[in-house]
Amino acid sequence: MKFENIMISIGIEGTAHSIAIGFVKQNKNKCDVLSNLIKTYHPKKGGIHPREAANHHAENVSMLIKKSLEEAKINYSDIDLISFSKGPGLGPCLRTAATASRALSLSLKKPLIGVNHCVAHLEIGTGTLDKCRDPVLLYTSGANTQVIAFAEGKYRVFGETLDIGIGNCLDKFGRSVGLDFPSGPTIEKLAKKGGKYLKLPYSIKGMDIAFSGLLTAAQQYYEKGERLEDVCYSIQETTFAALTEVTERAMAHTEKNQVLLGGGVAANNRLREMVSIMAKERNATCFVPSKDLCVDNGAMIAWLGLLMYNSGVRMKIEDSLIDQRFRTDMVDVTWRE
Ligand code: AMP
Ligand code: MG
Repeated sequence: MKFENIMISIGIEGTAHSIAIGFVKQNKNKCDVLSNLIKTYHPKKGGIHPREAANHHAENVSMLIKKSLEEAKINYSDIDLISFSKGPGLGPCLRTAATASRALSLSLKKPLIGVNHCVAHLEIGTGTLDKCRDPVLLYTSGANTQVIAFAEGKYRVFGETLDIGIGNCLDKFGRSVGLDFPSGPTIEKLAKKGGKYLKLPYSIKGMDIAFSGLLTAAQQYYEKGERLEDVCYSIQETTFAALTEVTERAMAHTEKNQVLLGGGVAANNRLREMVSIMAKERNATCFVPSKDLCVDNGAMIAWLGLLMYNSGVRMKIEDSLIDQRFRTDMVDVTWRE
């Protein structure tokens, strides 16, 4: 890995429900997180409304930058690079974060880099966790569910959801039975009190997974009077087993012996347990970043921007457009040998 001497990067993340600001500093080839603050938009009713979420981000971004600077104990003049999430994500949210980033770049006269959100989830693991070098990433968040690994010069998606993200599946189920958003943590608590396994569709197609059939079936069990605890338990057992299976197959195919978890659903202890058992059985290592680095956060955006900039990537303001459908394998990986 070659490095120029750009040191401190701010990351502005705004792909979906959260606006997040992080500062990181390069420490040899590792990443020191100086601060990492997140503010999440909670819809009053229903799911995320993109325009409302974007308004929330616009209202909070400058306050969050100030707070994050304070926490990092640095000033605006210490910032060397402005990194932001270019995509994938919700258009209005992405545009808000990108606009704030461009304004900061112009006023501080510092370079700007737009980064891929999914790749950032992976690189924050290799940047902050000792010995985590070349993992298969199981990225499980609200909107995204992908199994990603580096192969032949690119980060490639080995498997992904064919319909909704796993977090979205949990949240949709939760909403239909009256749980608050986000429902993942409550479903985890309820699942611990369940134990009767209700058969649900286990749909893996090739290396991809589908969740919407399972979601409907789970809702039907609940409507027919099955205990909510048992339905939650069955949802977790089925979806997490499918995610673990696809991850294991990607590890076998790429011959990698490290697995990394990322995304909000990686906070779930049952998912962690299943993936750890799988890793142990293959003599592989399972890595889980701290919770604030697993969820959508600014530090991961800051770090990937730094890796890109220091490997020679440059971006003009006029080329800093967002890309709602920015695919993981579209990224030119310049920072790895
Ligand atoms: P992200 O989109 O990566 O910020 O992650 C948000 C998603 O993570 C939401 O769908 C949440 O329901 C889900 N989530 C958060 N904590 C947990 C948990 N303990 N178990 C399952 N899902 C969770
Ligand atoms: Mg994410």
